[in-house]
Amino acid sequence: MALPARLVRQLRRVVGRGSVETGPAELLVYQSDGLTIHSAQPECVVYPTNTGECARIISLCHQAEVPFVARGAGTGLSGGAIIDGGVIIQLSRMNRVLALHPADRYAVVQPGVVNNYLSLQARPHGLEFAPDPSSQAVCTIGGNLAENAGGPHTLKVGVTANHILGQTAVLPDGEIVQLGGPYPVAPGPDFSAFLVGSEGTIAVTTEIIVRLIPLAPFTSTMLATYDSVGAATDSVSAILGAGVLPAALELIDKLCIQAVEANLKVGFPTDATAILLIELDGDQDEIAGQTETIERVCRRQGAVDFRLAADEKERQQLWLGRKHAVGAMGKISPGYYTNDGVVPRSRLTDILELVYRSGEHHGLRVANVCHAGDGNIHPLILFDPDATGDLERALDCSREILWACLEMGGSLTGEHGIGIEKRELMESMYAASDLGHMQRLRKGFNQRNLLNPGKIFPLGATCGEVRRPSPIPAGTWI
Ligand SMILES: Cc1cc2nc3c(=O)[nH]c(=O)nc-3n(C[C@H](O)[C@H](O)[C@H](O)COP(=O)(O)OP(=O)(O)OC[C@H]3O[C@@H](n4cnc5c(N)ncnc54)[C@H](O)[C@@H]3O)c2cc1C
Repeated sequence: MALPARLVRQLRRVVGRGSVETGPAELLVYQSDGLTIHSAQPECVVYPTNTGECARIISLCHQAEVPFVARGAGTGLSGGAIIDGGVIIQLSRMNRVLALHPADRYAVVQPGVVNNYLSLQARPHGLEFAPDPSSQAVCTIGGNLAENAGGPHTLKVGVTANHILGQTAVLPDGEIVQLGGPYPVAPGPDFSAFLVGSEGTIAVTTEIIVRLIPLAPFTSTMLATYDSVGAATDSVSAILGAGVLPAALELIDKLCIQAVEANLKVGFPTDATAILLIELDGDQDEIAGQTETIERVCRRQGAVDFRLAADEKERQQLWLGRKHAVGAMGKISPGYYTNDGVVPRSRLTDILELVYRSGEHHGLRVANVCHAGDGNIHPLILFDPDATGDLERALDCSREILWACLEMGGSLTGEHGIGIEKRELMESMYAASDLGHMQRLRKGFNQRNLLNPGKIFPLGATCGEVRRPSPIPAGTWI
């Protein structure tokens, strides 16, 4: 259905002529997000600057029965911010920190504020916004909220959900609601939390009240080197079992190390089979004691080397390597597919063995980077987009890994969401009745299914009545 010309005229009246794009060249960049294997053709992109404009845009789409979706930086990795036909509400011009309240440790931001920018603003006050996805130099806090983003440093302080206090949101009919607030406890159900992780399918968030936490007085980063992946994964459970809760506990395997070093030369040991990047923060004496414990545990589990970053410069270099590990794949492969699954920490060794086996089975190289402390794996499945059948094999490999995660008691996603990518797998994780309840809840807010349609739930499944068989029978990966 072509977008009604009247709607375009109305949108232009709301935000101004220059803030509505309908030309094919302008729309091209909005055809996909970070998951480029999926694309969809929007008909219009509109750039609001405040809550009132968002509400009027949404109300107009609602009246015209035109589908719409909110978009932050478009770094999502599950196809969440794309739409086939309809309107993209691009929030990048809503990028102001509206208020900083250091004494009460919170800030009010527009959703298009870039994650890292907020921490830079808060730092002079001795505070930071804790969620630190590796994409933090570009992704937005609105996108973090919608995907409940995690990151290397969410092991100790929790994911985005733990750092959202409240929000202003526009419901799919254009009504503005205030949910939660800066106070620590509010009576009644936590409707703000209900929106966190809902992947932009319930409402469009237009202002966010975020928690700010104090910067740690001391930070220490360690690098443990292993000649087997199993020894590294066993160390993860052993460190946490020893009663230490690091600020971050990340695993990087050989192929990934080689890609990072080929790209950035940050000082990762290129002869290692795996490394753990471990960070402690807090009081200096406490850190010293915990460092000894961690070194003892890592060596007992088979670490062949263990060193501390000598200074802040080396520490920053190591984190630069970790945060650019995914992008470094471009150095060693013309294409890669980023998997995101979760297992109980105690099953890390099993799942990574399976990841390598599945890659071999499909004739594909797989590099691994994991938020190991959270049991959150990110196999990076390398393939050649120009080679016939390569992408399909990469997708099969990814699905097998996710089924294995489920069989081990884990989850389909640790942080990238379901979007389009994994909607058909939701029936492998949830019973039909559970999915039905989730869909009914969404429908209560998004009655006409105009806001971000086709995301999270299997196509054709309405309130759980329809079940689709999994495309690959469970167990084929064994
Ligand atoms: C190299 C790389 C590394 C990454 N590392 C991590 C990581 O460590 N941890 C992690 O969690 N993720 C990571 N991601 C994934 C991605 O960056 C996150 O999901 C991020 O939170 C998306 O933010 P965005 O602004 O790009 O959102 P978008 O991609 O624009 O949108 C994502 C979803 O949020 C919805 N949305 C956006 N803004 C709003 C709003 N204001 N109201 C309602 N819905 C909204 C959209 O409709 C869409 O469904 C990574 C991605 C890349 C490319």
